Amino acid sequence: MAVFHLKYRPTKTTDLDLPEVSEKIKKLISEKSSFQALLLAGPKGSGKTSAARILARAVNCLDLVDGEVCGKCVNCQEIEKGNSLDIIEIDAASNRGIDDVRALKENAYLAPVRLQKKVFIIDEVHMLTKEAFNALLKLIEEPPERTLFVLCTTDPQKIPETVLSRLLRINFRKGGVEDLERSLDKVIKGEKIEMEAGAKKIIIDNSDGSFRNLQKSFNEIVLEYGKKIKKSQVEEYFAKNKGEYEAEELEKDINKGEIKKIMDRLEEMARKGVDFGELRLKWLNFFHQKMLTNLEDLRLKEIVEKLVMAGGWEKISPIEQLPLEMVMIEITNNQTPISKQITKKEKPAFVQKNKDYGVAKPVSAPPLRGSDVVKRGSDVVKIEEIENKWGEILAAVKPFNHSVEAFLRAARPQKMNKEELVIEVFYKFHKDKLEEAKHRQIVEKGLDKVFGEGMSFRCVLAEKKLVFAPPERGSDVVKPNSTEKAIEDVAKEIFG
Ligand SMILES: [Zn+2]
Repeated sequence: MAVFHLKYRPTKTTDLDLPEVSEKIKKLISEKSSFQALLLAGPKGSGKTSAARILARAVNCLDLVDGEVCGKCVNCQEIEKGNSLDIIEIDAASNRGIDDVRALKENAYLAPVRLQKKVFIIDEVHMLTKEAFNALLKLIEEPPERTLFVLCTTDPQKIPETVLSRLLRINFRKGGVEDLERSLDKVIKGEKIEMEAGAKKIIIDNSDGSFRNLQKSFNEIVLEYGKKIKKSQVEEYFAKNKGEYEAEELEKDINKGEIKKIMDRLEEMARKGVDFGELRLKWLNFFHQKMLTNLEDLRLKEIVEKLVMAGGWEKISPIEQLPLEMVMIEITNNQTPISKQITKKEKPAFVQKNKDYGVAKPVSAPPLRGSDVVKRGSDVVKIEEIENKWGEILAAVKPFNHSVEAFLRAARPQKMNKEELVIEVFYKFHKDKLEEAKHRQIVEKGLDKVFGEGMSFRCVLAEKKLVFAPPERGSDVVKPNSTEKAIEDVAKEIFG
């Protein structure tokens, strides 16, 4: 069975899910208005990419009738095949620099290969750097002949005013019940599916106004239950697939230092296509409320702070769950229990996860001065001891370099090889950084401070990464950067 969202993707202006958008585009085309730079702005899954592609057809169709593409002429056919060299789709999330825009500019000055007009569709355009925006501005101020720029964004407020003022803007919105029903009915009719009364409404209610979510879950329901669908099956599907990670549960897991469980839950949610932006806001709201009633609890403040910061990484992360993963690694590695008065006797300044990533155990507070150092001479330190004192090592490193401390916090001591400590890291970027001469010195200084002189270390890359599935983006946008590289970029943004 074909994937619904591909099979039923709108190919004509009238097919677009939002009627006012459909009208506006028709009007633009039929009035033969001259436009060379458009902005399509609105929420995820509202049909911006489909509209951009239809615009690409519309400016190239040889047989337009009332602003509608014919779908039959050579140009329409060429675009339909999906491999036209004159339709260029760029994901600004992974091509955000000045050089990317320069390359685009060079391309824009070359005449179209086959079509009337070359069309550049730039997705997530708000992700461009300031310099890249400046370069783009010059391009759209005086666009080369025979080009059209269609910029898409979920965050128009992040686009510089100078650029915005040059763009003809079309606003998208979440689908209303009627829009969503119409969209669903196309598939129901096309696939001859029988729906029990009430079943449709549940699917619509669970779509959050996104046509993409709607089609995706409907597709899965049909794959699972066939073409005669009962209301109870739809209910079952959503109950099973919801898998909400409630903030209360998360708090317990953080308190217990259950980093592995947290990572597994995030991975599972990624597979189910959970909206991590929304999840983050829910969590943020919960911890924020809690913070307001526990003002003395610095841990809550830290969690709120980190969840806010993760919002900034969401847009640059090619892997949706990555920002939350990073936050959770940081929080669970550097924590005292949330909302618990710390008793005077035990002072768990650090809680370090144990070897199997399971239960956290408190370790003693870090030494304050050099005189606290225990000289070990040639005694070989046991790995358990290193695990227990990992918090101390972090504390010893931190004053020298915060990033090195952060890299170590996201790593774990694996074993001792004679006098060499083997540290397991989850990103190649961390390994490279930690093994750089100047950083190596700092780590070794930290080890010396805690265990006496002479301990060296090396890093090994963990077999199982903390980051798993490749990102699932709605559109088949060009993404030249590898996932690994992108993870490094995000890690750079986060850890500095
Ligand atoms: Zn045509």
